[in-house]
Amino acid sequence: MKTAIYPGSFDPVTYGHLDIIKRASRLVDRVIIGIIPNSSKSPLFSVEERLEMIKECIKDIDNVEVTSFEGLTINFAKQNGADVIIRGLRAVTDFEYEMQLAQANKTVAPEIETVFYVTSSQYSFLSSSIVRDVAKYGGDNSRFVPDIVVKKLKEKFSR
Ligand code: ADP
Repeated sequence: MKTAIYPGSFDPVTYGHLDIIKRASRLVDRVIIGIIPNSSKSPLFSVEERLEMIKECIKDIDNVEVTSFEGLTINFAKQNGADVIIRGLRAVTDFEYEMQLAQANKTVAPEIETVFYVTSSQYSFLSSSIVRDVAKYGGDNSRFVPDIVVKKLKEKFSR
């Protein structure tokens, strides 16, 4: 049985992330989405809110689950017996950082592979930060994120 983890901030989850999640769910037997609470960015949504939104979005995919974790991704991978770490690549700008991460992880745990999914072209521009900006200025996010996320963004910015 092959297990993958898909770590990220998911602040909030977008159709770009969900595309990667669906594709990964066809590659391995089990996908564990790992929400990273305290990245260097100051988050818009709490971990609980991000968890709730992702749960709703993945409810129809049997082999995908979501949790959060503190500390190093590679330790989270080991604790869950993961064979694979999934990451997405949107553009060359993602590449250098992702390569450093993957190589550092490979040094610590050579048995765990990082697998990169190249973004589907319709999502290549899409990031959580664009979605947050669109929401902040009252724009329409419905083509970028699922309904539950649109709703939560509206609640956040109507306060
Ligand atoms: P992080 O803070 O770790 O970058 P994100 O939530 O921004 O977390 O992204 C998690 C992963 O999903 C990263 O590997 C990122 O490159 C990938 N990703 C984000 N948006 C997209 C997208 N539109 N298409 C493909 N991959 C994406």
